[in-house]
Amino acid sequence: MLLLANAGARPLRAAARAVSPCLWGGKHFSSGKEPVENSPATPMLQHLVYKIKSTGPITVAEYMKEVLTNPVKGYYVHRDMLGEKGDFITSPEISQIFGELLGIWFISEWMATGKSATFQLVELGPGRGTLAGDILRVFSQLGSVLKKCDISIHLVEVSQKLSEIQALTLTEEKVPLERDAESPVYMKGVTKSGIPVSWYRDLQDVPKEHSFYVAHEFFDVLPVHKFQKTPQGWREVLIDIDPQVSDKLRFVLAPCATPAEAFIQHDETRDHVEVCPEAGVIIQELSQRIALTGGAALIADYGHDGTKTDTFRGFCGHKLHDVLIAPGTADLTADVDFSYLRRMAQGTVASLGPIKQQTFLKNMGIDVRLKVLLDKSTEPSLRQQLLQGYDMLMNPKKMGERFNFFALLPHQRLHARSHEINANHSKPSPSPVAGFSELTWQ
Ligand code: SAH
Repeated sequence: MLLLANAGARPLRAAARAVSPCLWGGKHFSSGKEPVENSPATPMLQHLVYKIKSTGPITVAEYMKEVLTNPVKGYYVHRDMLGEKGDFITSPEISQIFGELLGIWFISEWMATGKSATFQLVELGPGRGTLAGDILRVFSQLGSVLKKCDISIHLVEVSQKLSEIQALTLTEEKVPLERDAESPVYMKGVTKSGIPVSWYRDLQDVPKEHSFYVAHEFFDVLPVHKFQKTPQGWREVLIDIDPQVSDKLRFVLAPCATPAEAFIQHDETRDHVEVCPEAGVIIQELSQRIALTGGAALIADYGHDGTKTDTFRGFCGHKLHDVLIAPGTADLTADVDFSYLRRMAQGTVASLGPIKQQTFLKNMGIDVRLKVLLDKSTEPSLRQQLLQGYDMLMNPKKMGERFNFFALLPHQRLHARSHEINANHSKPSPSPVAGFSELTWQ
């Protein structure tokens, strides 16, 4: 497991907002930073300028999608942006304890829901594969509990580069990988501990079997539409070419209503909102699968409960980056609106959270795990890394309060079933869901 030497000192993707809230000037928005006339005209910028010249201003969602996941030039497609030499760092990369506790969460839910004979672990946006690797180590250590269970790993990843790194992390390529770029399952392998692992570009292609889903810092990279309230009603923020400076982009407002306005709540009181239809589609897909086959989804990200306004920002080299400058060289992200995710799941499955990362990890026993690892390690530098990693994950000023955990569960997981009702006809309390309350082994 990767433990970074200076984990405590590294800037986070969730560090702060990149741009001051957009001010509606009647005509166009500032991108929040001084213009950089000599900023590089990246291939992505040239592609976008050409696109806008041919079809007109594009939505922020279209911009994010092109910049991040365009199959030829997208930011995520050909680079490893994680870690010290990259643009940002995430919890699984900071401390092995993070993934281990998530591994325990999945086993605890698997046990609480009747120890199914099959167990598909599905990860959305697996980065370097570090989180999946740490979860699998826990599965190996608790092999006696899972021994009769048929486990498989399913990774949903659009990045060619990152999928190669994930394969190296998880399989060490001891068994040669099978590749088929044309197939929905574009790569297959076997993990170090002998578990089959498959790669997909789309969740839709993952077999609809009993599954446990995990998405860490995945929903925040999905494209958002931005809207500003004006005297004429909601107007979408678009991206156009600056007529004053060649090869420079700027924000403008759509002159009339646009279709994504349908995603804004009728009673919305904020004057600037971000909506993420793609997140809604994925939550509905997860919810339908969980309602159909059982299992659970655990989603962790930075976000809010329908309260924040302008959170769209960029990160490059661990620093905030103007979202419109040198597109394709920086990560783009927006806070996750958990109230929207909850609405999208409602009726199909139950949801829990969002709760703060600090509370979730505390409930999962992070203090006990830290103590065990500290007791085992004699090397002062390793102890220092463990303590710094703990501080980064738990400190409210670092990741402890910025990151949230949110879960989707079948309704029957939270409500006692009829055959469990005891002789007094009073409902037994359902077994608590770990993390959202203290972990107890049933
Ligand atoms: N979960 C990892 C990585 C977070 S970065 C961690 O916490 O360390 C976001 C990840 O989502 C990357 O692996 C990126 O390639 C992937 N990704 C981005 N957009 C995606 C999409 N539309 N579908 C699938 N994966 C996507």
